[in-house]
Amino acid sequence: MATCLVTGGAGFLGSHLCDELLRRGHHVVCVDNLETGSLHNIEHIRVPEFEFLQLDIVQPYFVERPIDVVYHLASPASPIDYLRLPLHTLKVGSHGTHHTLGLAKRHRARFLLASTSEVYGDPQVHPQKESYWGHVNPIGPRGVYDEAKRYAEALTMAYHRQQGVDTAIIRIFNTYGPRMRPHDGRAIPTFMRQALQNRSITVFGDGSQTRSFCYVDDLIRGMIALSESGQHHPINIGNPHEFTLLQLAHEVIEVTGSSSEIIFEALPTDDPQVRQPDITLARDLLGWGPEIELREGLQRTLEASGADALVGRGGA
Ligand code: NAD
Repeated sequence: MATCLVTGGAGFLGSHLCDELLRRGHHVVCVDNLETGSLHNIEHIRVPEFEFLQLDIVQPYFVERPIDVVYHLASPASPIDYLRLPLHTLKVGSHGTHHTLGLAKRHRARFLLASTSEVYGDPQVHPQKESYWGHVNPIGPRGVYDEAKRYAEALTMAYHRQQGVDTAIIRIFNTYGPRMRPHDGRAIPTFMRQALQNRSITVFGDGSQTRSFCYVDDLIRGMIALSESGQHHPINIGNPHEFTLLQLAHEVIEVTGSSSEIIFEALPTDDPQVRQPDITLARDLLGWGPEIELREGLQRTLEASGADALVGRGGA
């Protein structure tokens, strides 16, 4: 049994990680400033093995009890959030990651950075392997997120090489599931909200751009497998099954039994045309692969959340 610190633990992925770590018998210290997360995501956790600390990791912070593993997830993650919070996003990736790596060093803890497929930027290589260095626009509006994560990866490797911290880096591809916010701007919660209200589903561009969607339970299983491995280099975790946005819209309409029609809107700046992980390393080094395909994951999201939460009524 370990004591795990989860930064961003009141967010979408962080709260599912807290649930799973507790289920496996670990103690969890959850740190969050509630900037994009919510107490609603963790209010069901009422066990003495769980502790919540409301603090901003951009400022130096300390945890007294011994920590064995640090999962560093705190960061705005949805374009709607990081475009609203550009400087905060850069500071969380830089100062926040410095402070959290320093904490891991003091506690001699294993440290896992939640990075992102966005470090690949424009996917000139398809699917994306970890060896692809990426093609990011540093000065575009999305640069604040992509470059913050690239800096956080460089910092993590520097703490590993120079300071001897036991680090790992997970490159997360699009993940979905219960507790996504209905208005967070990402495709699945947006389409589900629109479909459940029988409103028009807004697809950007002509809908031919592709994404690969990983169900949250698969992602969390991969994240814990990586933290429990001895790996230090980045590893992709995501579902390689690729869908066009138009296919996704049709899947959502079927799962929700909606009568929505599909309409098309302008593509956002620097929106990648394709996004698909090569998960050979995860399969070979961690024995990990996704188990829940899109249709089933959408059904589980609908059942676990309930229609009210997905359209933004009654919390979450
Ligand atoms: P989220 O916005 O739901 O969670 C992020 C959490 O971090 C929130 O609870 C927020 O309040 C907290 N936070 C932000 N700034 C903070 C600060 N200064 N101090 C303390 N807490 C702070 O997003 P998510 O989707 O759960 O993403 C979690 C992590 O996974 C992020 O690092 C994100 O970049 C990464 N990621 C997510 C996805 C995805 O598909 N969800 C894809 C790639 C990478």
